[in-house]
Amino acid sequence: MYPFDYQRPANAADAASAMRGDARFLAGGQSLVQAMKLQLSASERLVDLGGVTELRGICMDGGNVVIGAMTTHADVAASAQVRKAVPALADLAGGIGDAMVRNMGTLGGAIANADPAACYPAAVLGLGATVRTNLRSIPGDGFFTGLYETALKPGELILSVSFPSVARSAYVKNKQPASRFALVGVFVAQTSAGVRVAVTGAAGSVFRCKPIEDALAKSFTPEAAKAVKVSADGLNSDLHGSAAYRAAMISVMASRAVAAALAR
Ligand SMILES: Cc1cc2nc3c(=O)[nH]c(=O)nc-3n(C[C@H](O)[C@H](O)[C@H](O)COP(=O)(O)OP(=O)(O)OC[C@H]3O[C@@H](n4cnc5c(N)ncnc54)[C@H](O)[C@@H]3O)c2cc1C
Repeated sequence: MYPFDYQRPANAADAASAMRGDARFLAGGQSLVQAMKLQLSASERLVDLGGVTELRGICMDGGNVVIGAMTTHADVAASAQVRKAVPALADLAGGIGDAMVRNMGTLGGAIANADPAACYPAAVLGLGATVRTNLRSIPGDGFFTGLYETALKPGELILSVSFPSVARSAYVKNKQPASRFALVGVFVAQTSAGVRVAVTGAAGSVFRCKPIEDALAKSFTPEAAKAVKVSADGLNSDLHGSAAYRAAMISVMASRAVAAALAR
């Protein structure tokens, strides 16, 4: 690793004000520490959020479940509130990586990192969630802007994410067996404003799949999702699968997600 200074503030205000110059937040360290070890990431200072207890926890706000940025995947998976309000979210968190990753990795770190194969971005986009930071509220539709890119400004701190409770939702991924990241993951949600389908793992960033949304708006059935031929244009091709394979998997995963949502 390159050398760096280390700070461990006790509250969100101190954490935000520590972000001067070339500083970076440290959450669960599951992505950042790996990148630092490989010398792919270097910062003058790490601001460890581990002592900021106000960023941890889960509560209900009307029909929304609000999850603090430092809440771990294991805590989301085990939460009775999440399981009741948005069961798909508890399932998603419980399927991330392995036990160590789930015990260390956090919601805030996962979405700030915006890994193109990460699971949570599909839930943020699929549910139309709202990301609350120390500066503003960012709609899920505008949060992910590209490969490892988000709408966050330098030094902006994610405080929590508010996920609406919807009529039906489910997340299904075709996972990369070594890491369990999504080769293709699809989040389907039947909301009061219509059907939303968000795809992760297939392209440089999470995206909504309009052809499947349109098909499911007419008929919310696994068959309707599976019948859609998704275009491979712009999708990833790598050693794990071609763009054509990923395109085919989007319809298959969407169809399984609809079946899971209907079975709840
Ligand atoms: C072996 C392995 C398997 C994995 N499998 C999966 C998987 O199946 N699905 C999946 O979705 N993910 C997977 N992950 C990723 C994991 O979910 C972590 O959540 C993710 O790596 C980042 O979360 P973190 O808390 O560790 O963040 P960190 O690594 O500490 O930080 C990541 C980035 O987010 C920034 N950041 C952190 N918190 C905040 C905040 N509150 N505000 C603003 N910026 C912030 C940091 O500065 C850094 O740039 C896997 C990781 C590993 C190592």
